[in-house]
Amino acid sequence: MIIVLRPDSTDSQIDHILERITELGLKAHVSRGETRTIIGVIGDESKLQAQPFLAIPGVEQVMPILKPFKLASRELHKADTVVTVGADAGPGVEPVQIGGGALLMIAGPCAIEGAEILDTIAGHVKAAGANVLRGGAFKPRTSPYAFQGMGERGLEILRSVGHAHGMPVVTEVMDPRQVDLVHRYTDMFQIGARNMQNFDLLKEVGMTKKPVLLKRGMSATVKDLLMSAEYILSEGNPNVVLCERGVRSFEDSTRNMLDLSAVPNAKGQSHLPIIIDPSHATGRPDLIPAMSKAGIAAGADGVHIEVHSCPEKALSDGPQALLPAQYATLMKELRRLADLLGKTF
Ligand code: PEP
Ligand code: MN
Repeated sequence: MIIVLRPDSTDSQIDHILERITELGLKAHVSRGETRTIIGVIGDESKLQAQPFLAIPGVEQVMPILKPFKLASRELHKADTVVTVGADAGPGVEPVQIGGGALLMIAGPCAIEGAEILDTIAGHVKAAGANVLRGGAFKPRTSPYAFQGMGERGLEILRSVGHAHGMPVVTEVMDPRQVDLVHRYTDMFQIGARNMQNFDLLKEVGMTKKPVLLKRGMSATVKDLLMSAEYILSEGNPNVVLCERGVRSFEDSTRNMLDLSAVPNAKGQSHLPIIIDPSHATGRPDLIPAMSKAGIAAGADGVHIEVHSCPEKALSDGPQALLPAQYATLMKELRRLADLLGKTF
C-alpha cells in the first residue's frame, strides 16, 4: 500500500503514521520529495485493508497495491478456472464443463410453469445444443401480485425434466432458508441480480460445493461482483460462474444496458468463468442474437437465454423469450463462431 501525504503534512503527523504502521507489524519506506512525502508500506496488505489510514491527519490518498479480492483474483490464480456442472446429477445426465474454452449454454423458460410445457421447451433447447436447462421455481418479481413461482413442486418438475432430457439444471435461490431445499433438486444455484449482495445468501451457498451462477447486480460495479464472488469462494466453494446481465441506465428502449466490456474486464482481473445473459440485458428477442454473438466474440464462456414455446402465455418474462426456432437458428450461428474461436459446447 502507498500512502501519499498532504503537501502541508507535519513531521509529527508523519511520525504518528509510522507508529501506526509499526504497531501493525509492518515496515515503512519513507520517500521525501520536494513538495510531498510518500510512505510505502511493506508486508501483508490484508492487515492494512481494514485500517482507515485516510482518517489520519496529514494523509491525502491511500492506494492499495493488491486487489481487495484475493481468491477471485488472477494475481494469485493465473489459469482459468474450469467449473463442472452436474457432476453428481445422476445416471443419464451429462456433466458440463465451463471455462478454458468450454462454453455453458443455458436455456429454458423464465419460470417453471408445469411439467408438460417445460418438457416441450427442454426438448427444443436440447436439440438446438443447450447444455444446461434453466427455470425459476422462486421468482423475484417487482410486484407481490405477479406470479411468484411454483416453489418445491416446480423444483421437482425441473429435476425430472432435466433427467428426462439428460440435462443438468440451474434455478434461482433467493433466501438462505431455501438453500437446503434448492440444493436437493438443482445442479447449479443461480443468485439473481437483486441478491448479488445478499451476503448471508452468498455465505450459505459458499458452504456447499455446488456451482453458483452469480449474476451482476443492476447497479453493481465489476469490482462489487468480484467481491461477492469472494464471499462464496472464502466459504470454501470454488465453483463460481459470473454472469453479466445488464445494468440499469438512462436508455429506456432496452430493459437494461448490456455491459460487454465487463467480460474482458472481469477476465483480466479474475480466473472465474463469465457468461452473458442477453435476455435480461436487452429484454428484446430482436436484440438477443446480435448480443449473444458479441458476447462470445468478447470472450464470454457462454450465454444464458430465455426460451418459451408460447411466449404470449408465459407467466413471467414472456416478451423477451426467444421462440424455439429462433433459438435453434442462433445456436447454429454460435456454433460456427465457437469453432472459429476454438471453443466448444
Ligand atoms: C432470471 O434469470 O429469470 C432473473 C430474474 O434474472 P436477473 O436476476 O438477472 O434479473
Ligand atoms: Mn427471467
